[in-house]
Amino acid sequence: MRGVLFDGKRAEVVDDLQVRDPGPGEVLVAVSAAGLCHSDLSVIDGTIPFPAPVVLGHEGAGVVEAVGAGVTHVVPGDHVALSTLASCGTCAECDRGRPTMCRQAIGRPGKPFTRAGRPVYQFASNSAFAERTVVRAVQAVRIPEDIPLTSAALIGCGVLTGVGAVLNRARVGFGESVVVIGTGGIGLNVLQGARIAGALRIVAVDSNPAKEAVARRFGATHFLTSVDGVREVLPTGADHVFECVGRVELIRAAVDLLDRHGQAVLLGVPAATAEASFLVSSLFLDKSILGCRYGASRPQRDIALYADLYREGRLLLDELVTQTYPVEDFEKAAADAEAGRVARGVLTF
Ligand SMILES: [Zn+2]
Ligand SMILES: [Zn+2]
Repeated sequence: MRGVLFDGKRAEVVDDLQVRDPGPGEVLVAVSAAGLCHSDLSVIDGTIPFPAPVVLGHEGAGVVEAVGAGVTHVVPGDHVALSTLASCGTCAECDRGRPTMCRQAIGRPGKPFTRAGRPVYQFASNSAFAERTVVRAVQAVRIPEDIPLTSAALIGCGVLTGVGAVLNRARVGFGESVVVIGTGGIGLNVLQGARIAGALRIVAVDSNPAKEAVARRFGATHFLTSVDGVREVLPTGADHVFECVGRVELIRAAVDLLDRHGQAVLLGVPAATAEASFLVSSLFLDKSILGCRYGASRPQRDIALYADLYREGRLLLDELVTQTYPVEDFEKAAADAEAGRVARGVLTF
């Protein structure tokens, strides 16, 4: 079968991958569509270290093809969106509603694929850039069949991360103020999360003025090309600032823009060794800096919720897909994403 393989040096489309059958508690999914997220490119450029060879892709949607023993929540033929969270469902963190903190779900890459008899790693417990993939039952979330799979493919990373950061981690309240630095795939989802949460002022900041229209479409009430102008809109600062770029000077700016009791949420991914600085005294008035893994999501609940919000027209998915590409055009899709020409490219199979 076809898939996008990274061999440690370069990524290429291959057609001789195989995937094993689903074991107990696993689901085999025929992937229909998969979003190209910056994290896939970060594996290629080394920002995210990952063992190779590996099948890339980590946000996808498709149709259940087979289920392993003990799987009852989906059956072959069901449409599913995939999460990257291979949580165990039985540990103390899972039990308290924090599956993103499950130690089983972090840093234990499996090898369900083979190529020429050699095992191939699975990226983010997912590898959606393949015609078929095997995931844990908890990762396959049933979605209504009237949702286009090219749109549903985006829920599993960008939407869970961005909207989840607003609703689950920051818990933005009605009438509060939000600043979103960076309006790529994650930033746009933070914007619509803030709109859904009922934030009053939602300031989008992006150095590219061409992003204004889409930022406003997703929920921005103001658009600026630099963080320097934020104080003119919010003189006392913001209740929540989301850094979605991953640059240390913007992380510093996020802290500096906080109002009293404000919180800076760090979603951008700088190099693993990057250090940021801030004035300690600037945090004294009950301010905080929050990390956030995968939108503090509970995928079985959240993906179903976002699917319902989409059907009500309150969560935008189709507008996130700026271009679809057959998987063979992976290189073009990657180049477009790298150059910021698309909010989100989607590969189809
Ligand atoms: Zn992603
Ligand atoms: Zn667990």
